[in-house]
Amino acid sequence: MRRKLAAGNWKMNGTSADLEQIEALAEAHAGALSEIMIATPDTLLHRASAFTKTGPITLGAQNCHHRESGAHTGDVSAEMLIDAGASYVILGHSERRADHDEHDEDVRSKARAALKAGLRVIICMGEELEEREADNTLDIIGGQLAGSIPDDVSGETLVIAYEPIWAIGTGKVPSIAQISEVHDFIRLRLEQRFGPQIARGIRLLYGGSVKPANAAEIFAVQNVDGALVGGASLKSADFGPIIEAL
Ligand code: 13P
Repeated sequence: MRRKLAAGNWKMNGTSADLEQIEALAEAHAGALSEIMIATPDTLLHRASAFTKTGPITLGAQNCHHRESGAHTGDVSAEMLIDAGASYVILGHSERRADHDEHDEDVRSKARAALKAGLRVIICMGEELEEREADNTLDIIGGQLAGSIPDDVSGETLVIAYEPIWAIGTGKVPSIAQISEVHDFIRLRLEQRFGPQIARGIRLLYGGSVKPANAAEIFAVQNVDGALVGGASLKSADFGPIIEAL
């Protein structure tokens, strides 16, 4: 059985005052069976780790460099993220692909570095609205899967997040049938590439305008193992009900 995962992506939000959100989640969900991951900005990881020593909460980062160390001003390596308290890193988010011109091969080399250092990776993929409207979604996802996932993965170390770009921060959500189609397709492609045993262990998250009001319906979809949540993960009052819907 795959353990359900509610992952929060704080993006470029949060200062020390927001650590209380993590404290509140840790208290409220101390006995949760599902896993709760919060990807804070790197600046908060170390202090946030005080609330994750026991209980179901783990921490993540939102990017890492593909090299272990060296002359890369302003960058952070996977090992540094682990040292600061992260056990996951989100890679290939559409905002990084757009803001930093990251492509599948960059995502793949960062994932290799992260896995080598001992981080788990959440690799994001998703289509633009025009691609969806042109009925190209599965081609796009197939390409991103082939290009951005390294070969040496397992159900323990890899999570995939399907995030349609047009659903991020817009309040628009694909239909349940559309979510189901893409998640089934991802599982099938993983089976073809890694074999059924590994593929069955890899968790698939849906991301894009997940809210308390729509979470239960999305989580009921076969092959949806949780969510990657942006805006609604910033306040424990919103993220809490999403966790409970898992
Ligand atoms: P929203 O939940 O704000 O739509 O963001 C989704 C997302 O990008 C998570 O990585």
